[in-house]
Amino acid sequence: MDEPNDDMLEVLSSHHAQVGSLTVRRALPQRRRRTVGAWCFADHMGPADVTEGSGLDIGPHPHAGLQTVTWLIDGQALHRDSLGSEQVISSGELNLMTAGRGVSHAEEATGHYRGTLQGIQLWIAQDDASRVGSPGFEHHGDLPRVDLGEASATVLMGDFNGARSPARRDSELVGVDVRVMGISQMALEPTFEYGVIVLEGLIELEGQDLGPGTMGYLGPGRDELLLRARQPSTVIVLGGVPLEHEIFMWWNFVARTHAEIDAAYDSWRDNDGRFGQVDSPLARIETVAPYWQSRES
Ligand code: MN
Repeated sequence: MDEPNDDMLEVLSSHHAQVGSLTVRRALPQRRRRTVGAWCFADHMGPADVTEGSGLDIGPHPHAGLQTVTWLIDGQALHRDSLGSEQVISSGELNLMTAGRGVSHAEEATGHYRGTLQGIQLWIAQDDASRVGSPGFEHHGDLPRVDLGEASATVLMGDFNGARSPARRDSELVGVDVRVMGISQMALEPTFEYGVIVLEGLIELEGQDLGPGTMGYLGPGRDELLLRARQPSTVIVLGGVPLEHEIFMWWNFVARTHAEIDAAYDSWRDNDGRFGQVDSPLARIETVAPYWQSRES
């Protein structure tokens, strides 16, 4: 009886979470909506004031089975990972880290930047072929832009209205930053479901006003999106083919079973080499055992 109507806009509120030294607005996952396509995590970080010596301050921690997509809107941050990458990311740039079977990284202050930091960090659940593959890291400083009437879009991942991101993409999905000044119409891929996450401003979508901290969800079957800015707005549009299988997320891992999570947890606790080493001044992040382990003992 209360199945959502596929034609309706579903409005979801983000919740606040603490990540490193920052409070973030988490649009995904939510109880009602775990994923949009393979997008399984979306944290709007900041805007916050950072200094040369204090920024995100997220010490070395592991990932498996997912890609992290970091898009900065303001400021600079430093990424270090177990592949030896040491990369400053600045506003308008993208970091894409593929965990595959395992990687670890830290997100730090740059040592030179002081000012506002704002961005979004997204996770993509990897498909069965790539999730057991090798880790990798890409930095993209120059992403394609598209004019969409009274809006301008930067294509972070995938194809959007005639432009293609150079970033590695293993499954059918898209991620776009759209700055909307007025009325804007854009083409959608009908096989995709979409989430429109408002970072700044106020937009009208399907007759509803959406402000920061909300995400509008649209099911598959649409071929266009009309956004009307009531104020100059920044939105992130995520889309993808709905997942056909359940994914299982625990801490920084995406898997299919508890046993896979147990193995990842053991490897990080034992520092057995699966997740490599990060050359970082910050302390390694530890976590408690998965909740099901205490039930089984
Ligand atoms: Mn991370």
